[in-house]
Amino acid sequence: MDLEAIVQRSEALFRDQDLSAVKEWKSRTGGKVIGFMPVYVPRELIHAAGALPVGVMGAGEHAEIIRGDAYFQSYICRIPRSTIELGVSGKLDVLDGFLFPAICDVIRNLSGMWKILFPQKYARYVDLPQDFGAAGRAFYRRELEGMAEDFTRLTGKAVTAEALRRSIKVYNENRRAIARLYDLRSEAPHLVPTWELYLILRAANVLEVTEHTKLVEAYAQAARQSKRPERDYVRVVVSGAFCEQPPLGLIRALESSGCYIVDDDWVLGARYLVEDVIEDGDPFDALIDAYATKTVSTASRYESTALKGKFLVEQVRSRRAEGVVFAAPSFCDPALLERPMLQAVLSEQGIPHTGFKYAENTGQIQSIKEETGTFADSIKLWGTA
Ligand code: SF4
Repeated sequence: MDLEAIVQRSEALFRDQDLSAVKEWKSRTGGKVIGFMPVYVPRELIHAAGALPVGVMGAGEHAEIIRGDAYFQSYICRIPRSTIELGVSGKLDVLDGFLFPAICDVIRNLSGMWKILFPQKYARYVDLPQDFGAAGRAFYRRELEGMAEDFTRLTGKAVTAEALRRSIKVYNENRRAIARLYDLRSEAPHLVPTWELYLILRAANVLEVTEHTKLVEAYAQAARQSKRPERDYVRVVVSGAFCEQPPLGLIRALESSGCYIVDDDWVLGARYLVEDVIEDGDPFDALIDAYATKTVSTASRYESTALKGKFLVEQVRSRRAEGVVFAAPSFCDPALLERPMLQAVLSEQGIPHTGFKYAENTGQIQSIKEETGTFADSIKLWGTA
């Protein structure tokens, strides 16, 4: 497939609210489908039970919220409303189960609302630990074992150690392919426009993992061979968009305002673990160890104030970024409460930064584009913002 065809296919998957690819997988394999909200769930466990993990990131800019608003108060982000809208309009009927990982109170409330609305469907709040020592590891083992029992009941296929090791292996391959693509974008951002990379990543939400790995590799190869002009843009890291996602048009506008995005934190479900999960030994231990020690730093994960910002500064340095753009969903407590701490660290380090808020259906793209364009210009002219 050539570059254009790969991007077109990924965009079609991204825009397909009916989850046709998931339905096709289900009718072809007869397997069960388990949805999950951002940021992270151990997809390997779902895969080991023979089911398809499907990432749900709200309805994006596509859906009009008609009934979803009735279930939540006004001043919260949009993703729970649009997820409920998808649910009550039947768009998520293909899901046999739904996982709600502990990110924030909004997702906790959404999980409760979901259980009331769809009592016949399997749903689980995944209580991820915030302690990464012995107590947190013991707690997480119980959570993983509980999920494995649930998935076994749901699918009729036991999550054996051997099956889980196999699943860990294919997800490691997928993570490595994505990491190579991120490296390519950082080396040559003109060859890998972020809006394209974003579409390739979003395909991880709906494709079986080995199929997605092939898509990532095919895209990387085609992008490497493309002859796209290099522009005089500044290199930036985008931070804060780990849950509700910005509209695609906003990502395109960020780039065309003069910013090469050389790292980001969207679709973290596919990039939460930054190293391979150990492929031999006890696979539960391997998943626990990876969760405790090999992850990105993000607001839904507790870290001491001293450590806040260290990961972001390292991202900036290793990607040779010239600044940081904070992009957070409106009313997103985790992202917006963390932002001042991260800004303070960047200021101490002399790293320019700017920020804005968005909603998944935001229409204020032009004003954000002007803001980031000014940010890029000031870095180019004075090396600061
Ligand atoms: S966008 Fe922020 S506040 Fe809303 S559900 Fe996600 S993490 Fe929670």
